[in-house]
Amino acid sequence: MKTAIWWVREDFRLTDQPFLHQLSSEFDFLIPIVLDLPIKNSKFGFSTIGEHRLRFREESIQALERSLKHLGSGVKWFEHSNIDLALRTLLPFCPNPVLFYRDIPSTYEQKEVKQIASLPLKAVSYCDNLLWTEDQLPFSLDKLPLHFTPFRHKVESANPSVFCSQAPTTLPPLPPGIILQDALPHRESNSQPHFRGGEPEGIQRVNYYLWESHAIRTYKETRNGLALPNDSSRFSIWLSSGCLSVRWIWTEIVRYESEYGSNDSTYWLKFELLWREFFKWTERRYGNRIFQLSGLGNKSASDCFSPEIFQSWINGTTGDELTDAVMRELRATGYTSNRGRQNAASYLIHDLGQDWRSGAAWFERQLIDYDPASNYGNWGYIAGVGTDPRGGRKFNTIQQASNYDPDGAFRSFWLKPMDSVDSGT
Ligand code: FAD
Repeated sequence: MKTAIWWVREDFRLTDQPFLHQLSSEFDFLIPIVLDLPIKNSKFGFSTIGEHRLRFREESIQALERSLKHLGSGVKWFEHSNIDLALRTLLPFCPNPVLFYRDIPSTYEQKEVKQIASLPLKAVSYCDNLLWTEDQLPFSLDKLPLHFTPFRHKVESANPSVFCSQAPTTLPPLPPGIILQDALPHRESNSQPHFRGGEPEGIQRVNYYLWESHAIRTYKETRNGLALPNDSSRFSIWLSSGCLSVRWIWTEIVRYESEYGSNDSTYWLKFELLWREFFKWTERRYGNRIFQLSGLGNKSASDCFSPEIFQSWINGTTGDELTDAVMRELRATGYTSNRGRQNAASYLIHDLGQDWRSGAAWFERQLIDYDPASNYGNWGYIAGVGTDPRGGRKFNTIQQASNYDPDGAFRSFWLKPMDSVDSGT
């Protein structure tokens, strides 16, 4: 008898999980498990995970549970974040256990894996949130280009294949003796669901953006918009939690191009996914340095942190209209556009002179699409301690507001008195 334990680590989906296919033939039992995220305090005085992220994660897990139940399985949810303890509870019920888990390069996640080294089980890691494996890259990781453009040129000219697998149609049953909760935990939350978590919601968004609305055909022209849901794809929301596979999205775009023809916009959506890929490999290459004040190249940056100034930034009361509108949207919904993020980040760093890591930590707390590599990568880029060849970006927020919100609709919506806008934290 053999048991597979699937430690679901922010990859809440069944599509494109290649290892799931081998389970039915090789294992007698499967137990998928989920742990709570550890909620820590950032050095800037707030917790690292806000209500929007928690609500979205809970919905994603519940959706995964529904899909697993259709296949006769389920999810065992531990309301703590100690993997060692969780596995010790399960092992008596799991003959010949093999643990499958997603490899996550960050320090905390690597420490979690070290915790289980002494347990009597075999552990198999997989990497499912990148377009390519390290072997497929046209350079070794230590030769990863520091800047995006050479990275893109190299992968585009090597053109490695993107493989994507289907969702499994059968899975082994749960091991006898394992008792699942009747209902997964549900915590009270002030977060209003502007976007719902879960693989079906993510798939629906891709289907809508590509196949139903064909909004992809004008992506390049609309992507810098601040307000409308179809200005950009919104795929990050489901990508970051692993509800969607980037390889699946890529193959859907290629399929769309072969059916309806490619244009600048279909190319540009892939171009942006390459930015994600670039930051993820940068994280793998440089590890913890992406979180450090001096970033990748030991550059100098302000470590100034004024609680009053910071409060005005997070509350959207700095007096800079574009920044304030963006920060209020982020607080109320857990999402804001790329253009909005760039401006609000630049304003905190270059106009208010604050430590870039304080803003990155606030985004980490608030964004439902929070992703360490993309978040800290973009913040470092704007601060000039990351991968920007020009050594940082200062945006003129007044000019940007008139370019990207010419009629002021975005600003006037979010700058209404706060009590008329939901202000979930
Ligand atoms: P689209 O414009 O439709 O782009 C398609 C996809 O390409 C996105 O889903 C995303 O996966 C990728 N992409 C696009 N732009 C970028 C970029 N600049 N960097 C990396 N990938 C990109 N993205 C996150 O996923 N998580 C974060 O925590 C995050 N934090 C950010 C912080 C700052 C300060 C800035 C400037 C950007 C950040 N981004 C982050 C990148 C980008 O803003 C979001 O990926 C994008 O706004 C998501 O909306 P979308 O899916 O509609 O993007």
